[in-house]
Amino acid sequence: MLTLIRYTLSRGASPMAVVCPCCTGVQVKRYPMLYEEGTASIVGNVGFGGLSRGGLFGGGGSLSGTQQSLAALKVAPPEKRMIIPVRNPLGKFVIGFIVFSWLISNQLLLQVFALGLIVWRLFTVYRWNREQWPKLLGDWQQKWYCSQCGTTFNP
Ligand SMILES: [Zn+2]
Repeated sequence: MLTLIRYTLSRGASPMAVVCPCCTGVQVKRYPMLYEEGTASIVGNVGFGGLSRGGLFGGGGSLSGTQQSLAALKVAPPEKRMIIPVRNPLGKFVIGFIVFSWLISNQLLLQVFALGLIVWRLFTVYRWNREQWPKLLGDWQQKWYCSQCGTTFNP
């Protein structure tokens, strides 16, 4: 992720070329730059999200240890979806329940149904990450923030 942000910063217009469309101020920054400044401590945690037993059944790791500032949270880049939605308790429960019923059931029909749901989940997550996420990331990379009047804009 950090590499990605660095890459984003190294290309594109120089900050001097952009002014705020609202107040014509020059104190504008790209979202990736704002984000990197505000999240020095998050780097070690990015990339979490495996199929660990803890993740499946509720223990799960979380990002609570990070110290993102509020400003950084507002400018966070779009995230890829995970097979196990670790930040969504209901989603985590539903997936865990499906996997669990697949594992313990001796009814073929239920097993097939649960397996179908799992495959469907894998597929939809994969497709969203491949088709939707790059678009959202592209939008995010084009966003600027004016620290003078607080406007977000896309030059
Ligand atoms: Zn402004």
